[in-house]
Amino acid sequence: MPELFIGGQWTTAAEGRTREIRCPADGTLVAAVDEAGPEDAAAAVAAARDAFDRGPWPRTPAAERGRLLLRVACLLERDKAAFARAESLDTGKRLVESEYDMDDIANCFRYFGNLGAAGGTDRVVDAGSPETDSRVVHEPVGVCSLITPWNYPLLQTAWKVAPALAAGNTFVLKPSELTPHTAILLMRALAEAGLPDGAANLVLGAGDTVGAPLTSDERVDMVSFTGGLVTGRRIMAAAAPTVKKVALELGGKNPNIVFADAEFDTAVDYALMAVFLHSGQVCSAGARLLVEDSLHDAFVDEVVRRAREIRLGGPFDEHARTGPLISAAHRDKVEAYVAAGLAEGAVLRLGGARPEDPALSGGFYYPPTVLDECAPGMSVVRDESFGPVLTVERFRDEDEAVALANDTVYGLAGAVWTGDAERAHRVAARLRCGTVWINDFHPYVPQAEWGGMKQSGVGRELGPAGLAEYQEAKHIWRNTAPRPQRWFE
Ligand code: NAD
Repeated sequence: MPELFIGGQWTTAAEGRTREIRCPADGTLVAAVDEAGPEDAAAAVAAARDAFDRGPWPRTPAAERGRLLLRVACLLERDKAAFARAESLDTGKRLVESEYDMDDIANCFRYFGNLGAAGGTDRVVDAGSPETDSRVVHEPVGVCSLITPWNYPLLQTAWKVAPALAAGNTFVLKPSELTPHTAILLMRALAEAGLPDGAANLVLGAGDTVGAPLTSDERVDMVSFTGGLVTGRRIMAAAAPTVKKVALELGGKNPNIVFADAEFDTAVDYALMAVFLHSGQVCSAGARLLVEDSLHDAFVDEVVRRAREIRLGGPFDEHARTGPLISAAHRDKVEAYVAAGLAEGAVLRLGGARPEDPALSGGFYYPPTVLDECAPGMSVVRDESFGPVLTVERFRDEDEAVALANDTVYGLAGAVWTGDAERAHRVAARLRCGTVWINDFHPYVPQAEWGGMKQSGVGRELGPAGLAEYQEAKHIWRNTAPRPQRWFE
């Protein structure tokens, strides 16, 4: 069956090319899917443009749009097993984690369905004259290019698709070329839920050939991108000549600050989850552990002891606790960061070499790795390795902890562990990042905004601001008693 979805039709790629998708856990072929090119991207943009300018979706009442999103949530729940399996085969992620993701995704559609339907963003303005009727209304931005990464393929997609549709936009989605399958399933669900033709379009393929045209085409009004910093800069530049609205969710190099008065076992437990979840391929991974000097030795010993027990394995291995990296190229990158860190003086406490277990030899596995005695200038501390690599730095006091935490170009997320509530709030206020967890790590809810400060991005996803991102405010002013003004007399 063809896998590109353009103007309500399933179609093959114009150039007839396909791409093999292989499971990163063992290299088995998942499927060969259509590989789009610039011609397909242009056709998808044309379909989205037409659907926006002439189709029913932008003119559908918000409450009705919301109801459609609620139907999509139900379909995601009905087909959860198929979605989760497809996600795990593409990413190598444990099936149970993909199942959690599917629950979150259904919640995301439900949240934006209800938020959009509730309306309430338009308002009457008191313009100071009884002869003026002044209102601010919110309209869709237009045609949106939605470009997403491979680490949480459908979750990142849902954070864009749900608010974009709730607000009445039409879109072209380009998921990562490595993980296309849940995007295909989502298009089927949107069609089944009754979305009009052309409102949702899907192209599959590489970033430079099919992604890039989506960021420069003058018929596109907005680009919403989640991915790496370097790609984000490129996209911002590509969108500049036509002054598109741009929303960017980029990387992070997130600090996890542990004070000596933190609850020891819980802080250790979360320090592991913070960085090793999904083998570190999480934008908000707590990859920089900052530990108070007096606690350092005991804390790092316990982190290492427990990280050694983390079992690697494929999506359907019930004993595995984390999976492979996404690709050979990505594992090479992670290895290079570890080598650079060691060359720059870090002390290897755990990991640092591919596993020897023959059962894992077919996949791109890399073990939990702990680098101690790290310093701010090291590339492994500064850059996002996006792998299961924990760097450890020491601090003496609160000021030094905050300075180390903020010493990064990124500003996505961070955490502070302490038994002192006053200190927790002081530190939270000083951290320059979009999310701060106090005595926790990683939770998020669709009701609360998500996004980055500094070079972690532009704009917000989720929450009311996540809907507003896909809206334009329009001020409508009506003079109810017009008469000559005689300005020039
Ligand atoms: P990536 O930047 O390599 O690719 C992301 C997407 O952009 C892919 O679909 C890719 O094909 C496309 N792309 C690449 N070049 C393009 C171009 N020139 N024009 C248009 N599209 C292009 O990122 P990745 O490796 O897929 O994902 C990992 C990155 O995503 C990490 O840096 C991670 O931190 C980030 N991320 C951020 C968040 C967040 O919420 N802030 C969430 C998940 C992932």
